[in-house]
This record gives sequence, structure tokens and C-alpha cells, in this order.
Amino acid sequence: MLILKNARVLDAEHERDDGRYSVVIDGDTIREVTREPVEASGAQVIDVGGKTLMPGLIDCHVHVIASVAHLGNNSRLPNTFAVLRAVPILAGMLNRGFTSVRDAGGADYALSRAIEEDVIAGPRLFVAGKALSQTGGHGDFRERFDNSDPDPCGCSRNLGAIGRVVDGVDAMRKAVREEMRAGAHHIKIMASGGVASPTDPIGNLQFSVDEVKAAVEEAASHQTYVMAHAYTPKAIARVVKLGVRTIEHGNLIDEEAADVMAEHGAFAVPTLVVYDAMNRVGAQIGISALSLEKNEAVRVQGLKALELLHERGVKMGLGTDLLGEMHEYQSDELSIRADIVGSFEAIRQATAVGADILNMQGKLGVIAAGAYADLLVVDGDPLKDIRVLTGQGERISGVMKNGAWVREKLL
Ligand code: ZN
Ligand code: ZN
Repeated sequence: MLILKNARVLDAEHERDDGRYSVVIDGDTIREVTREPVEASGAQVIDVGGKTLMPGLIDCHVHVIASVAHLGNNSRLPNTFAVLRAVPILAGMLNRGFTSVRDAGGADYALSRAIEEDVIAGPRLFVAGKALSQTGGHGDFRERFDNSDPDPCGCSRNLGAIGRVVDGVDAMRKAVREEMRAGAHHIKIMASGGVASPTDPIGNLQFSVDEVKAAVEEAASHQTYVMAHAYTPKAIARVVKLGVRTIEHGNLIDEEAADVMAEHGAFAVPTLVVYDAMNRVGAQIGISALSLEKNEAVRVQGLKALELLHERGVKMGLGTDLLGEMHEYQSDELSIRADIVGSFEAIRQATAVGADILNMQGKLGVIAAGAYADLLVVDGDPLKDIRVLTGQGERISGVMKNGAWVREKLL
């Protein structure tokens, strides 16, 4: 038993609460959060001296296997190399205070299990397996003049591949069933053009109505849901009406599509920091000129989308979508959002809403009895300055996952 006493608590239920709390942790679970003195013989007591105690952060859109920003090249990494290069990416996330992440393509069940079994350090990892893309879609990384088979050597099975190409209703059903059999927690589809792929303008719709329906139906049969990459209002409204639960990016959304999302209770997972990072360092790390051009077109719109989604009451989780060398910017998503919707709302999105998206309400993203002890002890007040959470976790003096310190400098 561990008691963290003299803590200021910050989560979706405790906004401006200056009370001092004791948080009682038993094994992997928070047993009690109270302002009364706690007596428990044999318990270890740590006085955190009025520091802020908050839930571990949740990033709902990552690609932990993407150690090379060029995803076509990433898919050709030897398997051992692809997996080993994910190890420091996962450790980096945990150090920045992200105790849960949702992978949007690439990571598999084995990686998730390896973390669960403490073989490697990392956040709780919820995986999609391979993202599903149509021919010429956002998950098809062949260049325009490359007429090779999309999967000549079973390359899409390579561990560095983010996605696989699927065409037709039957193939879609089979692909979803295969990903579920292999241990996916949710299904990812590419429902519009994208930035980092060579032959698909952002305005394109991807997958037919029947293919999307098949994915949604199969995911529901497996008691889970579909997340869809989509940029334009048309692409977004279309798949939300077909039952897709979370919209990834959504940069070009308009009022009408936002209202469709709100009506259907769909979640948005904007990933603003990736456009910012691509803008800053994309050229140096080998992102193509065409991709950088596409990037700039959606970067500024993304900031406006966040405002619109917020105004229209669409539930929003935090996402980042960083690739390769850009992972270090992950926490900047918080400050980009805080500048638009305020620090408390940004933190709520990165905790309570993220837990909703993961179907882990009450278990993750809160400091409350019955939740997993995934928490951060922060120097300073994130509501006054969200930047205490940015960088590489320098101002986070304790990161706990599952009741165990990942690191701490409190004792
Ligand atoms: Zn995407
Ligand atoms: Zn992505």
C-alpha cells in the first residue's frame, strides 16, 4: 500500500481545486482519494509537498513502429530492426507522461503484450494491427510509376508496415477478421486522401460505402469499433453516418460535418502537432516536397478545425500522429491545444476523453477510487502553464503506471 499525501489533484472532476488530498494506492489500483487524514499501518507514505497529481496522459493517435518518417521505407525495415527501434519510442512516450496510447496502424498485439509483461517499458498499448487502405489509398505507399503488386512478397506483413491494401467487401471482412484474430483492440481504415502518401489527393474519398459498412459491421461483431483517417467534410460525414466511431485528423471539417459528428456521438482525434513538426523539420528528414505541400494546406486549417469542433460540442481526444525523428514533439500537442481551448480543456481531452475513446471510463484518465494507478506528479501548475507538461517530461517528477513508478524523484 502506498499513500501519496499533500497532493493537489487535477483531473476532469477537479478543475480549480486547491484542496490537499491523500491518494491511497493498493497494488495497481487507486483505492481512495480523500481530504481526510489516512491511517494505514505498514503503508509507505510519500509527502508530495503540494505538487499536482494528475492522471497519466492518453495519446489516441500514435504509430509506435514508425521509426522512419517515410512510411514506405519503414515498411521495408527488417523485422528485428523495426521492432527494436520501437523500444526507445515507447520509452520516450512513457517518460513524457503518456501512460496509455492508441496505435493507429503498425503496432501489433505482441508489442502490447510485451509491455504488459514488462519485457519492455512503454505505455499501455491499444493496437489496430495494420491500418486498412484501398489500392492507391493512404496506406498504399507505391510511387506513381511503381506498378509492382502492392504486396509482392507479403511485405505488408513486415512488422514495419503501417498498413495493408484491401479492396472489396469480402476482402474487407476477411481483413477485419484477421486483424481481430491477431489481437487488435480496434480497426483502422483510411477513408480519405492523406499527407504522407504519394498518389492520393486529400480530397479523395476512399473505400466504397459497402466496404466501410462491412468494416463497421465486423468490428461491431467483435465488440469494438472503427477509427477512420479522414480530412474533408464529405469524407467525415459519410463514414460517421456509416457508423465509424472516431475521426482522425479532421482538419478540413465544416459546421455541417461537425454537427453530424455531434449528433452521432462520434469522437474527433485531431493531430495538430504533426503538421507543425513536419513544417519545422520535414524537409531535413526527407519528407517529399509534395507531402510538405499537402501538409501546409492542412496545418492552418487544423487549428481552425479544433476551434469549430470545440464550439459544436464534438468530443475530442488528443492525438499526435508523429513519425520517425518527430516523436520528441509529442507533448507539444498539449500546448497547441491549450492556446486554442485553454489548458483545462486540453488536459481533459488528454485524460478523461481519451479514456472514453479507449472504452476505459473510470479505469483510466481519472484520479478516483477504482481507477488504475496511472498518474503523474507534476512540478508546477499545468493550468497556469501547460508547458510544465511539455518537453521530454523534465518537469514531471513522478510517472506511475499500474501502481509502479516508471520513474520518480520524490523520495
Ligand atoms: Zn492518417
Ligand atoms: Zn496516423
